[in-house]
Amino acid sequence: MEIAKVEFLPCNMPQEDPEWRFSLRASKVSQGWIVCIHADDGTVGYGYASATPHMGASYEGLKGVLDGFAPTLIGKDPFAIEAILAGLERQVRGVNQAKAGIDCALHDLMARALKLPLYQLLGGKVRDSVPVMRVLSIKEPDEMAERGQRLLDAGYRYIKIKVDGDVDLDVARVRAIRARLGPDVHLIIDANQAYSPKDAITAIDRMADLNVELFEQPVKYDDWAGLKLVTDSVSVAVEADESAGSVRDVMHLVSNRLVDAVSLKIPKLGGLRNVIAAARICEAGGIRYRLGAHVGTRLLSAQAMHLAAALPDVQFACELGEFTRLLDDPFTGIENENGMLTLPEEIGSGVSLNPPEGGEKAAAG
Ligand SMILES: [Mg+2]
Repeated sequence: MEIAKVEFLPCNMPQEDPEWRFSLRASKVSQGWIVCIHADDGTVGYGYASATPHMGASYEGLKGVLDGFAPTLIGKDPFAIEAILAGLERQVRGVNQAKAGIDCALHDLMARALKLPLYQLLGGKVRDSVPVMRVLSIKEPDEMAERGQRLLDAGYRYIKIKVDGDVDLDVARVRAIRARLGPDVHLIIDANQAYSPKDAITAIDRMADLNVELFEQPVKYDDWAGLKLVTDSVSVAVEADESAGSVRDVMHLVSNRLVDAVSLKIPKLGGLRNVIAAARICEAGGIRYRLGAHVGTRLLSAQAMHLAAALPDVQFACELGEFTRLLDDPFTGIENENGMLTLPEEIGSGVSLNPPEGGEKAAAG
């Protein structure tokens, strides 16, 4: 089998709530590229290259990198994933989001060619479903509590509260949400780097009676000393997200015990194989991990679900439901039900591109 054609289809999904924002940016549209790798027997594999500017990957820049990768893929054996990825690494350092799109499309193609669900290529499943954590956009406390109630009513039991570094207001946000949702809902907070280390410690101390279970990325991504200070100073588990931007970063975080947990994501780590490598490092070092927010098309969350099913030590809820707040998804096939996502058992990733012919624009190779 050989790779015969590679296409990149634009994927622009408007936010249902145009005011959606986190501490680093507001975005009305979630953007990326669908990577379509065609084999010479007609089998097609799909991946998603996620534009995440706060992780260094712009929409336009990703397309340029992907266009550069396309000619080197033509004629290759799509099962030779390690050799292909090593070649891409030699071609361009970093740009994990582009490499993740290729990695996922190759895995999807292999699963479809073998007529297996993707998880069978990742070691088989250790679970059939995961609880889904949903994310609350930064807003005034009462409105966040109201939106949290809607998630609760829809069956979700794990809520992530975005905060923006204003200690008084952030404490008020969490207090309003806890008061409205009651004692049984699992709450975590994500500062997306907004705090100084001392403000992060102050904020979490002032939330001591609110049963926050995880504090994600309190300080700047490269402030390793600040991250360790927060981790060592608070009783709540501290999780790295932006600080864990590569397998090498995860190795650094784990070997120096800078955090208690790591948020693993396919785009930032460069694909399925690298997420498994990062998970193994966490397991070896006794650090918790889970699948963080896979924002974009259902294709991306489905592929993350296959990983969540195959990784033995996934702890806490995974953020595999953000597709429900985005419009115009070109893929169908998975939905959250009663706050859970169930592993698809269909061939490949378990989602379908609709319509299957997609668009011919932006074709390469
Ligand atoms: Mg985060």
